[in-house]
Formats: sequence, structure tokens, C-alpha cells
Amino acid sequence: MHCVTITREVLRILTFRFHLGGFTMENYSIYLPSYSIGKDVYSKISEVCRPYGTKVLAVGGHKAIAAVKDLLLEAMKGSGLHILDFRWYGGESSYGNVDKLMADPLAKEADMIFAIGGGKATDTGKCAAAKLNKPVFTFPTIASNCSACTSVSIMYHKDGSFQEPFFFQKPPVHAFIQTSVLIKSPKIYMWAGLGDTYAKYFESTVSSRGEDLVHYVALGVTMSEMCMKPILQYGKKALEDNENENLSYEYEQVVLSIIVTTAIVSILVTTEHIIDYNTGLAHAVFYALTSYPHIEEKHLHGEVVSFGVLLLLLADNRKEMFEQIYTFCKSVGLPTKLSDLELSEAELPDIIHKTLEMKDISHNPYKITEEMLKEAFEVLETY
Ligand SMILES: [Zn+2]
Repeated sequence: MHCVTITREVLRILTFRFHLGGFTMENYSIYLPSYSIGKDVYSKISEVCRPYGTKVLAVGGHKAIAAVKDLLLEAMKGSGLHILDFRWYGGESSYGNVDKLMADPLAKEADMIFAIGGGKATDTGKCAAAKLNKPVFTFPTIASNCSACTSVSIMYHKDGSFQEPFFFQKPPVHAFIQTSVLIKSPKIYMWAGLGDTYAKYFESTVSSRGEDLVHYVALGVTMSEMCMKPILQYGKKALEDNENENLSYEYEQVVLSIIVTTAIVSILVTTEHIIDYNTGLAHAVFYALTSYPHIEEKHLHGEVVSFGVLLLLLADNRKEMFEQIYTFCKSVGLPTKLSDLELSEAELPDIIHKTLEMKDISHNPYKITEEMLKEAFEVLETY
């Protein structure tokens, strides 16, 4: 996410903050995620969704729909809820695909939308539902990001390049995180999700350091510790359990961190729809590296972000924490040096130059300099 969208709602909140010093209080609302997690939470669908109507349009990815279709139909038997049809989301989280869904007569007829999948599919369903002003319920099928619980959809152009975040006022009405579905997904998604999740802690705490924060931002930054601790404590075991399809306590803790905690933190720290506290050096490094085509072709977002976290910790002089994260990365096979991303020191001047241009580091307690990054990369390469 590296785009700033200002809406009337945001201006209202900004006005509120502007008056903080003079104690002028205005009204504001925060909507937080609601969710069920466990091996059989589809049994809760009737209880949770029935108050919103009876007719459902289910939207998702091909694989995701295949994974949950029979389970959903079985769970909804006798509930009074009826799935009008299952629709493919179109393969990209784009406004074009959102428009197609909105024009679908069944979307107009439906009382609610079920958004099923891993991120792009749920983002497409969420965006269409928000524009149609219909309640949306999410059914994540992989544990790689927080899309199922956030009040933003990340939108891409038709060609797959990033367009903008599309914010809405409320997150999905409810997320059904059925771990018996998630555990069957390839562990590579959770593996990459680990890095993007603990990045939330490091980026939000560093970017807000020393500031007198408004209540909701302070709440989000404080909670972000839960994006880090469970990952370090349970991440390795959770990956093994994912591989063996073993629904363990550790697996569930990591799923919660990736899908739920990160979403709550994101919502709180981006209430004003600005990215100041929601990003930082780890993501700046990621975006800089995406200028090398093989990065997006061969590597996952969270995998590259976790590499950026190592540089963030070195630039921030956090030797002890750096060692902890470095050891963790080694233990699960996340990248720890340029060659792990098929890059070499010859590319460093260009990488550093591009990183310094990213908006993600514009809000930081100190200026991140070329020397700082040079030194961080050198230490990391020789560690
Ligand atoms: Zn990210």
C-alpha cells in the first residue's frame, strides 16, 4: 500500500485531530473485525448471517470455491439461507472485475455477498459489496494476509500492477476462519505471511516512536506486538503442522496473528487513510526490489518484506532484536542475504537509491540515509 486517498470522512477525522490541542472533540466511529475461528466454524453461518437476509452470491477463486463449496452447502442446509450461485472473481482484484460483479443480476438480487479465497478474491468481493452497499462475509482459504478482516481492498490494474488501496468504512461483517480448510493449503502462503505480519509490529512501532498518538493509533501500535510474538514463538511449528495437516494450537495462533491481529492493527493505524504508521523501511525495501522483475515473478510479498525487516532492525540499531529475527528467518528458510533473492552487491547502489525514494519511509523518527542503508546491507551480507 503506498497511496494516499483522502475522502470527506478522512477530512472530518483530520479536522478532529487538528482540534485536539484545543480539546475540541468531534464524533468518530471505529469498526473492528468480527470473526469465528476453529475447525468447524461454518456451522455458525446460519446464526451469524441469517439476520441479513436469505439470498447469497458467493464470489471467489476457482480453487477456493472448489475447496469450500460442498462444506458451505452442507453447513447451510435447513438454515433458510440460499446460495444463488458461485461466481469466479475474475482473476485480479481490479475495478474492472468489481464492475462486472456489480452488473451481475444475481449480485443485485442477493441480500449478501460471501467472499471466498486468499486475498485478491476476497478483496474483489469486499470492494463489490461495499459499492453495492451489501453486507459481506469472508471465508479465507489460505493464511497469508489480513484481507478477510480489513476494511480495505488492494486494487490492481488489469495487467497486475498495483493501483491503489480502496478504503471502506467497515470491515466485512464477519470472517469464518475454518482452520480445517486453511490447513490443506500449501505452507508457502503461511511462510510468506509470517514476514509480512511481524513487519507490522516493527514498522508501526518505529514510525510512531516518540509521538503523542491519538487513541486509536496508540491502540493499534500497542496491539501490534501480537503480530510479532506468536510468530516467533509458534511460527516454525505452525509451518510443520501446515505441512502435515495437523490442526494444532500453534497453527491456530499463527493464523490468528496473520489474519485477525494484523487486520485490527491496520484498521486502527490507518483510520485516517494515511499510511504513516502502517508501513516503513521493510516495505520500502520490498517496493524497491520489485523493480527487478524476477522478484515479483519468483518471490512472495511477505518473503521479501521479511528481508526488509532485517535491514530495518540494523538501520534502527536493534542488535538483539535483529539477531532474534535473523535466527528465526534462518530456522524457517526466509531470505537473509541478497543472493537468496538472486541479487548481488553490484545492485546495491541502485537498490539503496530506489529504497530512499519510497514514500513508506517518509514518516520515520529520523531520516533514513544512504550511509545508513549501505552499512545495514554490509552488516547483513557479512553476518
Ligand atoms: Zn505487506
